[in-house]
Amino acid sequence: MAGTSQARISETDAAGIAEAAGILRRGGLVAIPTETVYGLAARADSDEAVAAIYRAKGRPDFNPLIVHVANPEQAEGLAEFDEPARLLASRFWPGSLTLVLPKRSGARLADAVTAGLETVALRCPAHPAMQAVLAETGLPLAAPSANLSGAVSPTSAAHVASSLGDKVDLILDGGACRAGIESTIVALRGGGWQMLRPGPITRAQIADVLGAEEESSKPGSKIEAPGQLASHYAPGKPVRLDARYAESDEFHIGFGAVAGDLNLSAAGDLAQAASRLYSALHQAASASQPRIAVAPVPAEGIGAAINDRLQRAAA
Ligand code: AMP
Ligand code: MG
Repeated sequence: MAGTSQARISETDAAGIAEAAGILRRGGLVAIPTETVYGLAARADSDEAVAAIYRAKGRPDFNPLIVHVANPEQAEGLAEFDEPARLLASRFWPGSLTLVLPKRSGARLADAVTAGLETVALRCPAHPAMQAVLAETGLPLAAPSANLSGAVSPTSAAHVASSLGDKVDLILDGGACRAGIESTIVALRGGGWQMLRPGPITRAQIADVLGAEEESSKPGSKIEAPGQLASHYAPGKPVRLDARYAESDEFHIGFGAVAGDLNLSAAGDLAQAASRLYSALHQAASASQPRIAVAPVPAEGIGAAINDRLQRAAA
């Protein structure tokens, strides 16, 4: 369906939700706001619909997609939950946590969603617009970030329109994303857990529920995170990190007392910095300066996720 004309942008009111659900049922692509970033959604049970996601993003086919569900019951139909998985789901869903679990045999998921893995990544998102679309379709929805593969993630409808405008059938405009950074991904296996991607839910919050993380250095305990590429979130210009001062040819992203051309959070609030990170990178990408410098951001709490994304943006 996608690919012929400029996408329409709709409100997240009842009419917009109904339109989105209709497009998704027919196998189309809809960009939907979530509390993390905007997702590019398609029905997860259709090979063609899922193929359209990979095509629109130019995403490598070895990089599996996160499947979004309306509630834990729907998730249990797709994956095998053990006690630790149930504990995390009951504590953090709906919210910014993705669980990688063994795929249930007979789960109605397109093969491409899991890129041939025996596991599936599941999230129950909190954003009311995404929740409404999930409820209205009754379908699990595959939804990676709604941007070209490797580029800066979208935290507004305008970001989606400028990156994927003609490749998506509809964009639901829910304003700016609250968390602003992709979900935390935790893999559960054999009673242990491992963080595959830092995000809004911190390592300490997971450890509070399940105890210490499995040591990834143990032989044989390494869990693959096929999509964690060294270079990602690239703004298309060189990025220099830990920059207290900028050169004249650098657009400076500040934090705290380092003012910069724009500041992620003058108060030094890491949650605010996360929510502004991608819009700052989008702004830096379209600034006149040929380079970007970023002030130091402490790696505590959600700061670990901010630094993870910045390092990939700079790689
Ligand atoms: P994105 O959709 O861009 O937020 O990326 C989704 C992330 O989830 C990528 O890093 C994928 O590699 C990861 N992922 C999805 N499914 C799995 C899985 N079954 N096992 C491990 N990682 C996964
Ligand atoms: Mg992404």
